[in-house]
Amino acid sequence: MEVIQLDKARNTNFLKEVEAESGQKLSTCYQCGNCTAGCPGGEFYDRQVSQIMRAAQLGLKEEALGNRSLWLCLACSTCSARCPNEIDVAGVMETLRSMARREGYVNDRPIESFWKAFLDMVSMNGRTFEAGVMADYMLRTGRGWSNLAMAPAALAKGKMPFFPHRIKGRKEVARIFKRYAEKRS
Ligand code: SF4
Ligand code: SF4
Repeated sequence: MEVIQLDKARNTNFLKEVEAESGQKLSTCYQCGNCTAGCPGGEFYDRQVSQIMRAAQLGLKEEALGNRSLWLCLACSTCSARCPNEIDVAGVMETLRSMARREGYVNDRPIESFWKAFLDMVSMNGRTFEAGVMADYMLRTGRGWSNLAMAPAALAKGKMPFFPHRIKGRKEVARIFKRYAEKRS
């Protein structure tokens, strides 16, 4: 884990922008560390989730958007459930990822490609389609399937169907994605 760099340039509007976009009162965070203590991704993070919240509070935009932790976050919402100030910390992480994409701060392209491949499948089918996610990911990154050895077991257990299972309400799901994209444009 690295410490946040307090001497980096500060953007005085950044906290307001994050609060407006996430709908969360991030200024109420008093750095108790509960979110970090329960975060399953923390051991792999370069900045802990509470450090990222602090960086956003202080207007340290580069620290808040330019870290690798944003891309390793599992979006599990444990941090939100543990926050005594009822901040949806996972929602703030999602907002920061979205800002990082828009403003060119993405620093882990393969993980970003995986996110995109996953979300595209959910948008198309209303739920994930594992084989489609893998194919899309390989096309985006030019990588081969590094977990090929797991394929026989996954196939035998029916975890890798060859065709997507589309849910009934997929048009409604697609509309959510469309509304989100319009809101961001
Ligand atoms: S949502 Fe992300 S930051 Fe929050 S606990 Fe889960 S992995 Fe950690
Ligand atoms: S749990 Fe909430 S108040 Fe505590 S450090 Fe995390 S965001 Fe801040």
